[in-house]
Amino acid sequence: MVHFVGAGPGDPELITKKGARFLEEADVVIYAGSLVNPRLLDLCKNDAKIYNSASMTLDEVLEVIYDAEAHNFMTVRLHTGDPSLYGAIGEQMDALEKKGISYDVIPGVSSFLAAAASLKKEYTLPGVSQTVIITRQGKRTAVPEEESLKSLAAHKSTMCIFLSVHMIDDVVRELTVGGYDEDTPVAVVEKASWEDEKIIRGTLKTIGKEIKEAGITKTAMIVVSPCLESEYELSRLYAADFSHGFREAKK
Ligand code: SAH
Repeated sequence: MVHFVGAGPGDPELITKKGARFLEEADVVIYAGSLVNPRLLDLCKNDAKIYNSASMTLDEVLEVIYDAEAHNFMTVRLHTGDPSLYGAIGEQMDALEKKGISYDVIPGVSSFLAAAASLKKEYTLPGVSQTVIITRQGKRTAVPEEESLKSLAAHKSTMCIFLSVHMIDDVVRELTVGGYDEDTPVAVVEKASWEDEKIIRGTLKTIGKEIKEAGITKTAMIVVSPCLESEYELSRLYAADFSHGFREAKK
């Protein structure tokens, strides 16, 4: 059996209880070493076999899993954040399906959520933005043309941009050409939830320079959102004159 587990954004306490239990029980662990906090591996059994996938190809990862299956071992494939985002989990699940190997997926706290927590912000303020776009700047990995930052910018919603801080100038250019005002607030959170987390705040106009001065080149979330600095309407959910399934409106 193979368990794909979301490790969370960095803080070892942000893995789910189920993910932690599978790590404790695993015979074989393959972890995404470039981003997973190695402190999570302290949970593993002393004799667990541990592989860092940072230096492995897809075929090498699959070989380790097939070998573990042949020995009836339990494998944890530990992905950073939540495995459904930019984790290349799809191709691994497809390969296991073909071999008839059973697996499940344990979700994790994605870094775009850890970034909101670090910023102490709500991405969905009433009347400001009710939509969060999760995306990345295309380059070596192709992004469909309809999803270019430039076209997504037309919505002026909250946008969480992964894997792109090293291309901040391209990001800013596409977003401004696409429709955001230069004064739109931007926050960059490097290593959200880690002990050495860093937050840089600015606007589309200022952020490029600030990021370069701070020397941030990887493991950072770019959050572009009118919600970062905005007057907003109070929610309907907790409004006194609003009834819903769990509460009658106060007269
Ligand atoms: N599956 C992961 C994303 C993997 S792609 C998730 O759900 O978070 C790797 C990218 O995620 C990085 O380039 C960066 O943009 C972002 N990232 C991962 N961990 C991060 C963290 N602790 N703080 C900020 N960004 C992070």
